[in-house]
Amino acid sequence: MGKIKLLGKTPAQLKEIAQSCGLPSYTGAQIAQWMYKKKVRSFEEMTNLSKAARETLSQTYEVGATSPEEVFTSADGTRKYLFPVRCPVNPSTHPVILSEVEESVVEAVMIPDRDRATLCVSSQAGCKMGCHFCMTGRQGFHGNLSVADILSQFITIDESDALTNAVFMGMGEPLDNFDSVMAAIEVLTADWGFAWSPKRITLSSIGVLPRLKEFLDGCKCHLAISLHNPFPDERESMMPVQKAFPLAKVLELLRQYDFSGQRRVSFEYTMFAGFNDDKRHADALVRLLRGIPCRVNLIRFHKIPDFPYGTSPAPVMEMFRDRLEASGITCTIRASRGEDIFAACGLLAGKHGENIFYDN
Ligand code: SF4
Repeated sequence: MGKIKLLGKTPAQLKEIAQSCGLPSYTGAQIAQWMYKKKVRSFEEMTNLSKAARETLSQTYEVGATSPEEVFTSADGTRKYLFPVRCPVNPSTHPVILSEVEESVVEAVMIPDRDRATLCVSSQAGCKMGCHFCMTGRQGFHGNLSVADILSQFITIDESDALTNAVFMGMGEPLDNFDSVMAAIEVLTADWGFAWSPKRITLSSIGVLPRLKEFLDGCKCHLAISLHNPFPDERESMMPVQKAFPLAKVLELLRQYDFSGQRRVSFEYTMFAGFNDDKRHADALVRLLRGIPCRVNLIRFHKIPDFPYGTSPAPVMEMFRDRLEASGITCTIRASRGEDIFAACGLLAGKHGENIFYDN
């Protein structure tokens, strides 16, 4: 049985832990300050705690930040970090349980862009959602990351102090690991934590409905919805989630919230040649999104093995963008980053990338 990780706990929870160890209650606030303001990773570095207090804590607890085991740097400056994680084994995906924990690797990608440094964060090892075009979906589900696993991605990378933004767009569906993701966002945005504005954080989801409402009610971060096709039958052929949580229901929910002010919603639309990239799709998308103040991001698809579609040619993407723009929808074609280190959208597989990338 390992030690209990403190990373991700609130000052109130840390105060209770301190008291349960017979330490003064203000020790909780001190530990929070060391972990979230100074980003220290051991009790030894918490120099305003007495030696006895540090020893008492370390018998049962640890800070619990995990360092990356490998890092790859792209020619464009994008950096991909690989983190080892140990997730509790899920009985529904492991009928025979040989061990209580499963070891996996997840990825975090730091994307520099002029005066910004955005971290693309993973929330799960693998993913249950099974989107056909996604390398993470193909590897199946290996477990939920703990709040300490999620925050480690922020704390231990070389650019930790330079980060300006975060997107929950890495491996996994963040709303399928709701409690850990919300706890991490609380640490990122609380005054006692990183004190980031929620405007610096975007959560990306394929639309896991009951949790989406909870997220919209309880959190002010931006939202990105993976849309990819306006027609239900075509969307379902790529994204099984469409059956359980139809896009129409997701949009019905979004229409109940105000996205004209501080909080923004965007729609991610990966372009597959000959599948979702003609005028019919563009016009249907315009009809679908009418009345929702939003942006559509067109994403170039990175071809993966055993998948029938390649990416749409640049002129087709431009036609699609112009058609949306002409109808009053702000639309951008996303620059692709980190492709040479397999860090681009849809390629995060928790592997080093060998043999998973096909030339178009
Ligand atoms: Fe999961 Fe997102 Fe990949 Fe779909 S696209 S399988 S939700 S990680």
